[in-house]
Amino acid sequence: MKFTDLQLDPALLRGVTDMGFEHPTPIQAAAMPPALDGRDILASAMTGSGKTAAFVLPILQRLLRRPGRNGIRALVLTPTRELAAQVHEHLTTLGRHCRVTSTTVFGGVRPAAQVRALRSGVDVVVATPGRLLDHMSQPWFRIDRLEVLVLDEADRMLDMGFLPDVRRILARLPERRQTMLFSATLPRPIVALSRDLLERPERLGIEHRAAPATGIRQSVMSVPEQRKKELLLEMLQRSEVRTALVFTRTKHRANRLAKYLDREGIPCDRIHGNRSQPQRESALAAFKNGRIRVLVATDLASRGIDVEALPHVINFDVPRQPDDYVHRIGRTARAGTTGDALTFVSPDEENELRAIERTLGRRIDRRLLDGFDLRVAPVAAPRNGAGEPRNGQRQHSRTGGGNGRARNLGTTPPKPRRHRTGRAHRA
Ligand code: AMP
Repeated sequence: MKFTDLQLDPALLRGVTDMGFEHPTPIQAAAMPPALDGRDILASAMTGSGKTAAFVLPILQRLLRRPGRNGIRALVLTPTRELAAQVHEHLTTLGRHCRVTSTTVFGGVRPAAQVRALRSGVDVVVATPGRLLDHMSQPWFRIDRLEVLVLDEADRMLDMGFLPDVRRILARLPERRQTMLFSATLPRPIVALSRDLLERPERLGIEHRAAPATGIRQSVMSVPEQRKKELLLEMLQRSEVRTALVFTRTKHRANRLAKYLDREGIPCDRIHGNRSQPQRESALAAFKNGRIRVLVATDLASRGIDVEALPHVINFDVPRQPDDYVHRIGRTARAGTTGDALTFVSPDEENELRAIERTLGRRIDRRLLDGFDLRVAPVAAPRNGAGEPRNGQRQHSRTGGGNGRARNLGTTPPKPRRHRTGRAHRA
């Protein structure tokens, strides 16, 4: 199928060309014909599949075909600010040759500009639920002309506890409208929501379980917790990895890792829930334009990150949920390119890794970094006289901490290598 087969307005076809799209992706080919007909959509689609254009183009086509109405005509709800910004970017590029007005609405920035845009009556609003609800409580807020609603990454909204907010928003929307729901996975509450929301929807891809895009080379490196930082540094120093999006389990770990890499001379930044919107945007921009080599992120931030041709995603920690794994590694190999997704696994994380492998239905390849000594450095070894703690650094208990430079210099007997622990920890 070609974009020209979809009877899109010429102004939109120019936008498609501006984006550099040649052929519709599978989700676009499947979703756009019914969406352009005004039908409801229930689609299981991952970030990276091209789902954004699959709903943005039908929205724009509708606005072009029936112009002149005032007030919000389309609303896209997303779980994160990053995703909202990214959807909005798609909207403005694809709609560059049309007279369509739009705004983003999310927290972390001053609301004045949003209020101005909303009061002047924009056509499309791309919003996160919390901030939109704030505006909705204002007496001037109107949304009774809404024609299209999109819930993007609905499962993530559920994970982040936004469903009550979403339901509150839904209660204020006109009932006659087109609704499109996109979700990587379809847990029960999302299925229930879809039943309430959608009328005879076109169901797309929902028989499949969440699966990573093809084109991603997945591998695992077994490494003691204490050595993860050094392994990453070594890979960066050897240029095995030139740039990478690196995921950690917590904000704290993201901060610590970024600090460590920075100290070791690797330009990097971090992006997580405690960072302000301007900080997140500047980190993402620095990563996109190559000023930093590493962007350390938590899962919260993982959905919205869209960096073209990202060659490496590294799970510094094994994700707790298999779906998070799929989402994290979905940052690489987007729209048909190839990429590497590498996961560091400590002995304590083997069970979580196995849960992921069960979800994927296969084992992930194990690999080693040639010449990298996996033995735990004797940083916390009992000391007697000569065995002073190296340079007096305070030790962090759980991650081995230290200054990250400690190497096993051969003074302690090597621990057995633990890169393949086939033991079952759980029945
Ligand atoms: P999405 O899944 O919507 O977040 O899109 C993932 C990436 O694929 C974005 O960088 C899009 O710009 C890109 N993309 C979307 N549709 C196409 C297409 N038809 N051809 C090439 N790239 C695309």
